[in-house]
Amino acid sequence: MSLLDHLSAKLGAISAQSLKRSLRRADTGTAPRQTINGRELLMFCSNDYLGLAAEPAIADALADGARRWGGGSGASPLVSGHSAAHEAVTDTLARWYAPHIPQARAIGFCTGYMANLAVVTALGDEHTEIFSEKLNHASLIDAARLARAEVSRYRHADVDGLRRLLAASTAKVKLIVTDAVFSMDGDLAPLPALLALAEEFDAWLVVDDAHGFGVLGEHGRGTLEHFGLNSERLILVGTLGKAAGLAGAFVAAHATIVEYLLQAARNFIFSTASPPAVEHALLTSFALIEGPLGAQRRANLVARQAQLRDGLLALIARHPRLGWQLTDAATPIQPLIVGGNAEVMALAAALEAAGLRVPGIRPPTVAAGTARLRITLCGTHTAADVDTLLTALDRAAAAQEQAA
Ligand code: PMP
Repeated sequence: MSLLDHLSAKLGAISAQSLKRSLRRADTGTAPRQTINGRELLMFCSNDYLGLAAEPAIADALADGARRWGGGSGASPLVSGHSAAHEAVTDTLARWYAPHIPQARAIGFCTGYMANLAVVTALGDEHTEIFSEKLNHASLIDAARLARAEVSRYRHADVDGLRRLLAASTAKVKLIVTDAVFSMDGDLAPLPALLALAEEFDAWLVVDDAHGFGVLGEHGRGTLEHFGLNSERLILVGTLGKAAGLAGAFVAAHATIVEYLLQAARNFIFSTASPPAVEHALLTSFALIEGPLGAQRRANLVARQAQLRDGLLALIARHPRLGWQLTDAATPIQPLIVGGNAEVMALAAALEAAGLRVPGIRPPTVAAGTARLRITLCGTHTAADVDTLLTALDRAAAAQEQAA
């Protein structure tokens, strides 16, 4: 069979299920406003939760870093790609997580996908059993597939189910792996309970805090700070392309674990280090996150979250026939579950016609029948921005109700 015919048939099936994805090109702009095809759209889809990508201080730091260090790092970290800027970033992170992880040390990666791949494949050897939460991010799922460890999955937030799996396990090393904030639901993992299980069953807890870093906790250190956790069993992954407004990721863990990743994580060893200018700018981002600007943006996020949630609940009550639902979101990710794939895409299109960019999320990213708008807030959204979204949604809901 011709590969092209084979792929065309598969692409046809994807389209027939309203599952075709396509790239949209933004011409200018950073969250929360972008220009696409000459129209400015108010975005509720960026993970730049604090609005730092648009901060002039970040652009200045990138330019300053490029003047000092030039363009790329030129090599993998263990060859010659590791700069003083890289080290200042991991030193800062080790200091940030010292109150949460005894003997904390940090190691950097180019993306969160890479950091997750490194932790799970390097630690998940043939002596290990991985206990993976069902709603984990694709990068954790892929990493578990690649690891040599046995993999068991537990249902979303099912602490008792996890306990049964741990109790039955005979593996030498047990690795619980979970998102801290679930990226398509916006709810928090029950981390204190998971850590208690880790202590009880001599297991280790890998926490992917991609969506908590910068956002949660008094100083923006994320979910560990939010819950006040402290244990050498915590292995934290944070990403720096979301609330930090730049790019990259890190793992913070006990120094022995980090030393082992440096020796054994193949995608760390065999991949070019991030550009030093980005690392240099991350230092500015960290100062903003822990300073007054970060605190002000986090406070605004909490206020906008409450406004959005109240508004969505009122809207659902006004249009009960649509069967829309909220999740238990406790973060700037506030999804609106619509159900059908075609319905959610029609809704996203109606919002776009009204000048708003909110993505429809469909299977396989979420379970069949739970297609949703993934509304995300940015620390620079105003109350008026959220009202604009709620008004447009109300009109679109009325139109869908009439059409139904
Ligand atoms: N973990 C989670 C929970 C994520 O949502 C994402 C990105 N969407 C990642 C990891 C990957 O991070 P990055 O985009 O830096 O590769």
